[in-house]
This record gives sequence, C-alpha cells and structure tokens, in this order.
Amino acid sequence: MAGLNLGIAGAGLLGRLLAWRLAREGHRVTVFDPAPHAGARGAAGWTAAGMLSPVAELECANAQTAQRGLRSIELWSQVVPCLPQPVDFRRAGSLLVAHRSDLGAAQRVLDVFSAQSPADTAPPRRLSTQQLHELEPAVLGPAAAWLLPQEAQIHTVQAMDALADAAAQLGVAWRWGEAVRRVEPHRLDDHTFDRVFDVRGLGARPELPLRGEGHGFTPQLRGEGHGFTPQLRGVRGEILWVHAPGLVLRRPLRLLHPRLRVYLVPRPGDIVVVGASEIESEDRSPISVRTLLNLLSAAHSVLPELAEGRVVHTEVNLRPALPDNLPAIETQAGLTRINGLFRHGWLLAPALVEEALHDAGLGAGLWKESA
Ligand SMILES: Cc1cc2nc3c(=O)[nH]c(=O)nc-3n(C[C@H](O)[C@H](O)[C@H](O)COP(=O)(O)OP(=O)(O)OC[C@H]3O[C@@H](n4cnc5c(N)ncnc54)[C@H](O)[C@@H]3O)c2cc1C
Repeated sequence: MAGLNLGIAGAGLLGRLLAWRLAREGHRVTVFDPAPHAGARGAAGWTAAGMLSPVAELECANAQTAQRGLRSIELWSQVVPCLPQPVDFRRAGSLLVAHRSDLGAAQRVLDVFSAQSPADTAPPRRLSTQQLHELEPAVLGPAAAWLLPQEAQIHTVQAMDALADAAAQLGVAWRWGEAVRRVEPHRLDDHTFDRVFDVRGLGARPELPLRGEGHGFTPQLRGEGHGFTPQLRGVRGEILWVHAPGLVLRRPLRLLHPRLRVYLVPRPGDIVVVGASEIESEDRSPISVRTLLNLLSAAHSVLPELAEGRVVHTEVNLRPALPDNLPAIETQAGLTRINGLFRHGWLLAPALVEEALHDAGLGAGLWKESA
C-alpha cells in the first residue's frame, strides 16, 4: 500500500521516525508541531541521554520492554546508516558499577534482571578489576563492575536533526508553528488524511481516549470536583553535559546506588552526559542544586577525572508517562496513537513504530529489506 496521504501530529522522536519511515515507503506525509523550526528543542527526544539499555532498565520496566529494546537496537543499527549525516551510535555494551557499601542494593537489582530478562538476553558479566581497567581505564573506585554486552547508545541530538533532514529530503511536509488541537480518525483539526498519527507526547493529554482495559490507554479518572484528571503525566528529568577533554569513556556507565539512578554517557567532542533525575513533577524550571550535587558527586565517585571538566549545558524536560509507566499503541480505522514512552523513548521507538505500522497494515517487515 503506497502513496497514501498521511498526517502526523507531533515532530518529536516518534514523529520524526514515523515521518521518515512512511516517506521511505512512498507515502505523502505531513507533520504538524508547535515548535517554530526543526531545531527548536521542545520535545523530550532532544533532552534524552540516548541510553539504549534493555537489561539495565529492567529495574523499572518489564520483559516486553527488554524485548522491544533489543529489537530497537537492531533497528537503529539499520536506520542510522541510511541517514544523510553521521549519528554517533555505539553497540559496545554498557557498564554497571557499584561501591562496596552499595553491593547489597546492587545484588537486588541484579536479581531483578535475572528474574525479568527475556530468554535471549545475555546476563550481566562480572568483570575483574583488571578487565574493568582494560575496558575503561578512567573508571576508578567501584568495588564491583558488570558488562551488559547487548546494550547500546545513540546521540539523540544528532539523530533528531538527521531524521528531520532525511524526511525532508524524501518530501515530508513539515508544518512548524502549527499545534494540532483535535485528532480524530482521518482528521487533524480541519485537515483530512487517509490515516493520522497522534504522537504529541505530553501534548496529547487533553484528548486521550476513554478505553477499557487491555487496549493500551487506560480510562481517564474523574478528579475530585476538578473534572477529568488526565492519565498522561509528565515526569521531570534533569540532565547535564560536562566537557572533559582527555577523559576517555567508551561506553555508557551506570552507578548502582540505593537511592539514585545515575548514568554517564560519552559523546563525541569530549562530552560526557550525566543524568538523570526522575521527579514526579511537571515543573520545567532549571536544574536544582540538589540534582546537580547528587548527579555530579555520584559521577565523580567513579570517574574522578570528571573533576577537571566544565559543566557546559544543563537541560530539563518532561517524560510523557501513563499510569503503569509502559508505552501504549492504539490502532483504529484512520487513526494510530502512540504514547507513554516515559524514560524509554529511544530504547523503544523503532520497535513501537514497527508494531504500530504493522497493526495499521502499513508495515513492511525488516526495515532494511524495504530500504
Ligand atoms: C532527562 C531525560 C533523559 C532521557 N533519557 C533517555 C534515555 O537515555 N533513553 C531513552 O530511551 N529515553 C530517554 N528519555 C525519554 C525520551 O526522551 C522520551 O521517552 C521520548 O522523547 C518520547 O518521545 P515522543 O515522541 O513520545 O515525545 P517527544 O519527544 O516529547 O515529542 C512530542 C512532540 O509533540 C509535539 N506536540 C506537543 N503538542 C502538540 C500539538 N498540540 N500538536 C502537534 N504537536 C505537538 C511537541 O512539540 C514535540 O515535538 C529521556 C527523557 C528525559 C526527559
């Protein structure tokens, strides 16, 4: 089925990936977003560190997320080489590390991994001090380290830019500065399409449908005297970039800690991304002193060289989340909605897009085969 007229509400991570994918299939695609231009950084997709951690995220996800994550890593490895500009994508695994005082908490997390991991997942491999030094000489201080060999990372800023450029080259019409207020089957506001996609992230909140159990989106609940309480919520995430010339970190590193979830992600240009807080709040104000202290002291405790780095950027955004913190796809005639990607958007987007297009009768199998 080629040559359909398709409309997309939202040009964040999902919107860009969908637009590019559908245009490659030969469809006419129009994308609406209130952002003033392709490089305006409102979408959560820009802020993300780009950890692709199907196993490490089992601490706050389920086996299906891990399976979709493994699938997405495979799909990103096919997407990235097709993009018109370079996107830093690495499949060198990731490291988990723990200090001696936190080994009990670390073991509990490792037990969750082994209980939840899908069958085809490689388990965490315990590293000796010598092996850790050979893999990551700059990492000093942790009492224990494990390698998760199937994990990966993607440079989210490069990928957001490259997906928009690639889609534009394929003829996608970007309607910047245009918010969609009403999404219905075949319609985005007053525009008519063969099918429409609602991927507005948190921007979809006013319109989330009332659905029964088992259909992805959960019913909205009535608040106490305040009308409907929306079920989609934003979860505040704060992140910072450190410029640390000379510091060599080859793969993402996660500190297993009883209270904090702290990770470090290397990027080209001697940048280390340190993230991220997870706060039940929709406050978009700048990063707090508490978060800066927590993230940087935890990061410095395993990567001492970071002390000489410079904090060159901080960013705050909201993760779109449903009550169970799991993603949902809804397919009906003329309309597909995908939302609730929470802290796993980059980990899940290709697999979710693949499933959603298949459900809508638009999907080819492997992305490479149709390239
Ligand atoms: C600090 C932080 C760190 C993260 N780290 C990771 C990570 O390491 N790995 C990972 O996998 N995920 C990570 N994430 C999560 C990831 O960023 C999100 O899950 C993902 O961006 C969600 O994608 P989306 O397309 O649904 O939403 P978004 O990327 O937010 O895009 C939504 C788009 O819809 C547009 N929109 C809003 N309202 C309207 C409207 N009315 N009409 C039209 N368009 C509209 C917005 O302008 C935006 O462009 C992180 C998130 C944060 C905040």
